[in-house]
Amino acid sequence: MDDAIASNAPTGALDHSAPATPEPTPQRVPALLSSLEQAASASGLSASEPLEQSRHEVSIAQARLGLGGALFSAIHFKHPHTAAHCCRVALSCSAWAQFAELDAETRDVLELAALLHDIGKIGVPDRVLLKPGRLTAEEKSLVRAQQAAGVQIIAACCGSERLLRAVRHCLDHYDGEPGSLAGQDIPLESRMIAIADAFDAMVTDQVYRPARPRERALAELFEFAGTQFDPALVKQFTELNSKGHESLYRTVASDWLGQMAVRLETLPWQTATNALPEEAPKDCDVSPFDQVLVDSLRDGVVFVDNESRITMWSVGAERLTGIPRDAAVGKAFLPELLGMKNELRRPITESACPLRRSIESGSRLSQKVIIRERPGNDTEIQLTVTPVPGKDGAPLGATLLLEDLQQLASLEQQCDQLNTEVTQDPMTKVANRGEFDRMLALFIESHQQSRLPCSLIMTDIDRFKSINDTFGHQAGDEAIITLAKLLKANCRSGDLVARYGGEEFAVLCADCGTADAARRAEDMRVRLSEIEHDCLGGKQITASFGVTEVQPGDTPETMLRRSDRALLMAKEQGRNQVVQLGNGMTEEAGGKRWWSFLKPRAKNSMSADLISPVPVEIAVEKLRGFVSDQKARIVSIKDNTVRMEVSTSSLHSTSDVRPITFGVEMQLKEIRVTRTSGIGLAAGEYPNSRILVEIRALKNRSRRSAEIANCGRLIMQSIKAYLMAKDAQEELKAEAAAPAEA
Ligand code: GH3
Ligand code: MG
Ligand code: MG
Repeated sequence: MDDAIASNAPTGALDHSAPATPEPTPQRVPALLSSLEQAASASGLSASEPLEQSRHEVSIAQARLGLGGALFSAIHFKHPHTAAHCCRVALSCSAWAQFAELDAETRDVLELAALLHDIGKIGVPDRVLLKPGRLTAEEKSLVRAQQAAGVQIIAACCGSERLLRAVRHCLDHYDGEPGSLAGQDIPLESRMIAIADAFDAMVTDQVYRPARPRERALAELFEFAGTQFDPALVKQFTELNSKGHESLYRTVASDWLGQMAVRLETLPWQTATNALPEEAPKDCDVSPFDQVLVDSLRDGVVFVDNESRITMWSVGAERLTGIPRDAAVGKAFLPELLGMKNELRRPITESACPLRRSIESGSRLSQKVIIRERPGNDTEIQLTVTPVPGKDGAPLGATLLLEDLQQLASLEQQCDQLNTEVTQDPMTKVANRGEFDRMLALFIESHQQSRLPCSLIMTDIDRFKSINDTFGHQAGDEAIITLAKLLKANCRSGDLVARYGGEEFAVLCADCGTADAARRAEDMRVRLSEIEHDCLGGKQITASFGVTEVQPGDTPETMLRRSDRALLMAKEQGRNQVVQLGNGMTEEAGGKRWWSFLKPRAKNSMSADLISPVPVEIAVEKLRGFVSDQKARIVSIKDNTVRMEVSTSSLHSTSDVRPITFGVEMQLKEIRVTRTSGIGLAAGEYPNSRILVEIRALKNRSRRSAEIANCGRLIMQSIKAYLMAKDAQEELKAEAAAPAEA
C-alpha cells in the first residue's frame, strides 16, 4: 500500500463560482472521443496508458477544467505521467459519483479536485519526482509538504473553499493522524480521491514493481479499510470496479467533452482559457519507423535527454530489465534504476554512472555492468553510452545500448556445441567424414594458392575383422579410439585428423611435403605396432598407410583417390607399411633430377623407357586411374599401343592460363624380371611391365617452349607415379648388381 501512497502528492483546491469558459470547438470533439474509445475501453481507465495518450487526457482535463486547465497543463509539462494519472483518477471518481448518484455540485468538486490533486508536484524537485526507485521516508514527507503548496496554487485562481478542502485533505488517513482530520470529518471528496488515487497507482507499472492485477489491488484496498481508507467507500468502489462498469467510464469521458459546456457556467474560473497546444513539446521525438526498428532489436535501446530523463525505452530494454516502458519513460536514468554494479559486484555510484561520465566527457563509453534483471536475479550487460550533440554542439542527450552478455555467451556456447556435434565423430572425438570432406577442399585450394605443399595420409587397421571376431566389437572400438588418439598426438598445428569410416582414418598434413608426410606416417606405424592393448589381452595391432602430396591440377577426388590407391598398395604389398604415391608439387632437390633419363627426341617432345613392378593387367588398371584423374582423351588403341591426349587444363587450377594439349603414346609389354632380392619377395622370376612413353606438345609454340617442357615433365611425372614405374635401364642395372639371396 505504501507504494501506492508514495505516488500521491500535494494538491490544491478550487471553488465553484466564477464565469464559464467557452465550449470546446466542435471539430475537436469527435477526434477526442474516438481516441477515448481506446483509452477507456482497454482497462476501464484505471490501468496505465501509453504516454502518447496523455495528450488526449490533457484535452479531456482541459475541457473539464476551463481556466484550471492552465494548472493542469503546468503539471503535464512538469511530469506527463502525473498528469495522465490525475486524469484517470478524475474519470474514475466521476464514474463513481454517477454510480453513487451524488449531486451535481459534489460531483463537480470531486472531479476538479481529482484532476488537480497532484498539482503540488510542480514544486517537487525532479530528483525526487524522476527518481527511478522507491521514495525514502524523507522524500515522501517532502512530497507531502508540497500538498499545501498545491492548495495555494489553486487558491490563487479559485474561490471555492469546498474544492480547496477536498484537495487539502486527500492524503489524510481515515483513522486520523496528528494534525489532520479523521473519519467522516475528512471531506467525502477527499476520501473518495484517496481510494481512486491509491488504486490507480497500484494497477500502474512502476519501475520498482510491475502493475498489480485489479483484483489484487482491490483486495489491498480492503486491507487498509478503516485505517487509511473509509471502509464503506472501499466497499462501494469495489462494487463499482468489480462489476465491469467500463461503459460508465466511457459515458463519463464523453460527457466531459461533449456536454460540459452546458455546465460550464457553474465552474469557478473567472476568465476563459485557450485550448492546449495540439502537441505538447517533447524532448525527444521518435518517429514510428525508428520506434519499430529499435523495438525489433534484441538488445535494449534507451534515449535520454540532457537531464538524463528517459525519453525512449525499447522492448529490448523492457525484456532485459523487467521494467515496462511506461514506468521507465520520464524517470531519470541513474544507477539505482537498474541496480547497477561493477564487475566486482560493487554498486555503481551516481558519480561513476557511465551515462553521467559519458555526457560529462562528451565521448562514447562502453562498460560491462551487472544489472538487476528481475528481483533477485542479476545479469551482465555491456552498456554503451553515446552522447548526442545538438546543432550548436550542446548536448541533447544520449543513446544507451544494453547488450545481454549472458545470452550472447550462451548463444556462443550453443553454437560451439552444435558445431562439435556436426563436425566431430562422437566415438573418437576426431573430425567426422563431413568435416574432412569440407577441410580437404579448403586445404587443397589454399595450398595450391600459396604454392606450399600439403599431404594426405590415409590409414586403415590391418585385419580388423578378425580383431572384432576374436575380441568382440567393444574391444575393437577401444582399439579404434587408441589409434585416433595416437594420430592426434602426432599432429602439428594446422593438421586435421578425421575418421574416414570404420577403422579408416585420414590425416591432413598442412605445409608438409610427401617425404616428410611419409616419415611421419612411418613414425605412426611404428608407434602403433608397439602399443600393447589391454582390451586385446596385451596384443598389438598394425595399420597400413597411404601417403600422397597435393600436385598441380589436383581436386579433392584425385588426391583422395591417389592416397587410397597408395593405401591399397600397402595392403597388397603385405600390410603394416607405408606407401607413398606421386611426387607432389616440388621437384626433387639436388642430385639427379628424376627426368634426367628422359631422352629429348625433338623440340617439345620427350620419351622414357619405364618398368613397373606389376604384371601388365595391373599396369593397365593403374593407367586407368591416370586417364580418369587427368581427364585424358583416348585417341586410339592398337595392339599394345595406346594414344591419348592430355590437356594441361587439368594441371592448372586457375583458368587464366591457356592450356597446352599433349599427345601421349604408350607401348606396353610384359617382361619377366629375375629378382634376386627384394623387400618381402623371394628370389625368382616375376612378371613386370615395360612401358615406352612418348609425350609431344600438339602445337609447337616457340614462345611457350619453357612452359611446354615443364608441363611435359609434369605429365611424365604423373604417369610414372600412377604406374609406380622406374627408369628401366637403372632398374635392370640395379637388379643385376644386387647380391643373390641365400
Ligand atoms: P584389411 O587389413 O584389409 O583392412 O582387413 P580388415 O579386416 O580390416 O578389412 P576392412 O577394413 O574391410 O574391415 C573393416 C571392419 O571393421 C569391418 C567392420 O566390421 C569393422 N568396423 C567398422 N567400423 C567399426 C567400429 O566402429 N567398431 C568396430 N569394433 N568395428 C568396426
Ligand atoms: Mg582394415
Ligand atoms: Mg577398413
